[in-house]
Amino acid sequence: MGSRAGATVHAVLFDVDDTLVDTKGAFRHALTTVAAEYLAADASLADVATFWRADRHGYYRAHTRGEMDHREQRMRRANDLHAEFGGALMSDAAYDAWDVVFEQGFQDGWRAFDDAHACLDSLDEAGIPYGALSNARFDYQSLKLATVGLERVPMLVGVDTLGFGKPDPRVFELAAERLGSVPSGTAYIGDELDIDAIAATRAGLSGYWLDRWGGTDARSDQGADGGKSEATQDGLTVPRVATLRKFSASIGAH
Ligand SMILES: [Mg+2]
Repeated sequence: MGSRAGATVHAVLFDVDDTLVDTKGAFRHALTTVAAEYLAADASLADVATFWRADRHGYYRAHTRGEMDHREQRMRRANDLHAEFGGALMSDAAYDAWDVVFEQGFQDGWRAFDDAHACLDSLDEAGIPYGALSNARFDYQSLKLATVGLERVPMLVGVDTLGFGKPDPRVFELAAERLGSVPSGTAYIGDELDIDAIAATRAGLSGYWLDRWGGTDARSDQGADGGKSEATQDGLTVPRVATLRKFSASIGAH
């Protein structure tokens, strides 16, 4: 039993979006409803989804740094999407109506990944406590986890808990503390190499990169060498796993 560094894992932290919950699929669902109502008839749904997720101006990350609120980042991204795919520029009121459509489509698309419960069962059997840490709002992520049937995972820290999110080490430290653990005894897994696995490792945790799509996903292009069991960035190397089951096995919970 132990992490790659040989340290025993006493607690586990999960990212939420695209780690426990298939948020990518939910965004596809939301954008399908938005495209039907707002975008040019010939807009490719695949292109629309890729464009949305790329967030080319980094508005969501600015939000996680506390630089703009959630509404502002989403409205800017919505208008950027419209500019690219034949939608009209939206005023505040028009955006509010758009967001109702988007949010309903998004929430209707929320699903847990198939491997989540098996991983959690393994941790329960091994007596390892766990919880979630996210760059979205605390209450919203609690609702999301409950909606997809993962209420067994307690939310510990959201972007609004401290007013900023990952990669700041303080969010990892606080989440570990809320599990009664310390960073060196805590493993963390998330789908983004930089703000999840590398940032957690930098904060003193055992950071794991969940690379479900083997580098074929637009957001995982930092590790487009499918099949490798590790990934390196900024001089730090982290374990890379394709499923949550492989993660629980690798920390000694089978
Ligand atoms: Mg994520």
